[in-house]
Amino acid sequence: MKPDNDQKITNTAKEIFEQYLLKNKLRRTPERFAILEEIYRRNDHFDADQLYDFMKQNNYHISRATVYNTLELLYKCKLVQRHQFGQNSAIFEKAYGSRQHDHLICLDCGKIFEFCDPRLHKTEESMGQMLKFKVESHSLTLYGHCQGACDNPPSSKKTQ
Ligand SMILES: [Zn+2]
Ligand SMILES: [Zn+2]
Repeated sequence: MKPDNDQKITNTAKEIFEQYLLKNKLRRTPERFAILEEIYRRNDHFDADQLYDFMKQNNYHISRATVYNTLELLYKCKLVQRHQFGQNSAIFEKAYGSRQHDHLICLDCGKIFEFCDPRLHKTEESMGQMLKFKVESHSLTLYGHCQGACDNPPSSKKTQ
């Protein structure tokens, strides 16, 4: 994606967030918007503590509680996606302007890969029709071992 397109996505995400905060009579603090901007600068998956550590290293004066509670708000207005992969803490990624995708997770190094299989959309449709169920979304995570690209081969397995 072109950088100016990224900027457009970030600006729209900020507008959506602003409207959400206004509507719910929540404070529109610069900290909350800094967190949103940081999330939209990234292209990866992260947990709340990783985001907090990153922001602290980059000299933002934002408390851990603010990071947690802003992620919660962003989740509520669908600007971030939240995943529960195995027993680990919740993993987030930006949602607005991103294509629908699912994940592969390496059990050795914890690396997260993304994939997109249009057949899943067809499954949603046909199952919805068959079971008279309005499908809103799905989540599919495949676990296994990344071949070659793995930083930590099984012999040096570490618990995450
Ligand atoms: Zn993802
Ligand atoms: Zn791996």
